[in-house]
Amino acid sequence: MNKLPFSALQRHESLQKIQDTSFDLVVIGGGITGAGIALDAATRGMKVALIEKQDFASGTSSKSTKLIHGGLRYLKQLEIKLVRETGTERAIIHTLAPHLVLPEKMLLPLVEGGSYGKLATSFGLRVYDVLASVKGKDRRKMLSKKNTLLKEPLLKEEGLLGSGYYAEYRTDDARLTIENLKTAANHGAVCLNYLSARDFIYEDGQVIGLRCADQISQESVNIQSKFVISAAGPWVDQLRKINQSLQGKHLFHSKGVHIVVPHEALPVQQSVYFDVPDGRMIFAIPRQRVTYIGTTDTEYKGDLNRVFPSLEDVAYLLQAVNFMFPSIHLKLSDVESSWAGLRPLIHEEGKSPSEMSRKDEVFEAENGLISIAGGKLTGYRKMAERVVDLVAKKYKEKYKQNFGKTRTDRVILSGGTFIHYQEVLDYTKALAQKLKPYQLADYAQYLVNNYGKQTETILQKLEQYPEKNFLNLSKAELWFTINYEMTHSLLDFYERRTGRLYFYMPSIRASLDEIIAEFQQYFNWDEDTIAVEKNQLLQTIQDLAEFKSEKELV
Ligand code: FAD
Repeated sequence: MNKLPFSALQRHESLQKIQDTSFDLVVIGGGITGAGIALDAATRGMKVALIEKQDFASGTSSKSTKLIHGGLRYLKQLEIKLVRETGTERAIIHTLAPHLVLPEKMLLPLVEGGSYGKLATSFGLRVYDVLASVKGKDRRKMLSKKNTLLKEPLLKEEGLLGSGYYAEYRTDDARLTIENLKTAANHGAVCLNYLSARDFIYEDGQVIGLRCADQISQESVNIQSKFVISAAGPWVDQLRKINQSLQGKHLFHSKGVHIVVPHEALPVQQSVYFDVPDGRMIFAIPRQRVTYIGTTDTEYKGDLNRVFPSLEDVAYLLQAVNFMFPSIHLKLSDVESSWAGLRPLIHEEGKSPSEMSRKDEVFEAENGLISIAGGKLTGYRKMAERVVDLVAKKYKEKYKQNFGKTRTDRVILSGGTFIHYQEVLDYTKALAQKLKPYQLADYAQYLVNNYGKQTETILQKLEQYPEKNFLNLSKAELWFTINYEMTHSLLDFYERRTGRLYFYMPSIRASLDEIIAEFQQYFNWDEDTIAVEKNQLLQTIQDLAEFKSEKELV
């Protein structure tokens, strides 16, 4: 087989390369922040490595609300710069991956005593459009009560004043992260999952590399690099502590939970961003066969590696939905999946989690470690630009070499070679026609949204199977994600490569035994490995669908 820079089957070669190369920059953390940095630096011509202690996007970057949004509530907090930057970024990221960053209309019901008044919303959404250069028919509309109920008949009528109707984008955070990493690898970055940074290597008091542990072979791996950036999200302070540079500002971990119900249990016609009785606001977002609802925002002090939705979190979200959509009567038993993530916020004394800024922050240690935390999924490209500018400046001062400016606003992400969004729609339609004879037309949208034009490679693999059915399509996907996306485990596949753990939960059991048999062939899994893998997946399914109280989770 040809050399594939992102193949799980070529891990040995990648491990060798990461130890044999003297890098310009090593990035710790394979979430969206690290992925954006790796891509920015690699496309400027730096020799880059990125390591992730678990799977790519397994931290916060698979647990967000999955919106590429300007953050209307930040306008309310008068964070104009943040709104302008994230607002502009939405359109840029959409052009880089139009199959993955999809236009999504949002309905904001205005209610008596709610967070947003009619005039302020009309003005605010207009400013929001201007800041984000939203044009033409995508500009916000203000709807009367009657028209609001026509758009969304399930809304509570009592106290409803009307609504704002405006443009946002929806994505899959884990896939956006992985496509950034794959694109970085195509530009020469060496990226590895399951490689954990344990300590730093110093020379004359300056960081010159990392001591890592391979989580698969348990071997030690040393990496040499001129610069090291920690983009470890909620774990940033742990690494600053190891680096003995944890002083001044520090992180505050805020937990956010989402629940997933079948679309027929909450059949909203478009995304709704609505008030809840405690003064917060949450989203209900339809996504093919499901609707997901979130989020909570509460201080978290538990184990950073084991974050689960509690019974109380789920009850809060159910209550919020039942308050705004009174005919719905959602119950605990309607919840088929969920996820919980940690916002790595910068601590601000005296503020509640919801009030704390979502701005990013760079910490520079005297020994050279650069850490970046905070921020948003939406702002990842600008965060990367800022911190790589900093490295480029230091590089020039020390080594007299110039790497120039960012060019990631023009670097199309893998799978995203569509001229415009209409081409995505046409491509999806044509694919549905192609898959129709095999009763697979329903998967066309899923395939295009997940893989974009890379769907062709999956379909070529499917051609090799005499029968073209759901099981063989799943096997072709698995083959693709192992060879091109570094899938190593059942959870990598079902959670972060395909999103089935969240959005297609019932389909998992239908393919599980066959998928395990495939894994066994690719990686020579023995019976013990199979048992561990299967148990881990089934335990996760249970943790995401059967909830324990806060007390039991401690
Ligand atoms: P992470 O994704 O957590 O990545 C850090 C990575 O570092 C992890 O994968 C971790 O395993 C790895 N790591 C840690 N220690 C080590 C080590 N020693 N060695 C190697 N690797 C290590 N933003 C939006 O724009 N839109 C939204 O809709 C949105 N909704 C959100 C909803 C919720 C509930 C939450 C929690 C956040 C939301 N956000 C949203 C914010 C956004 O998700 C985060 O800002 C972003 O995902 C953070 O990415 P990150 O890469 O910094 O952190």
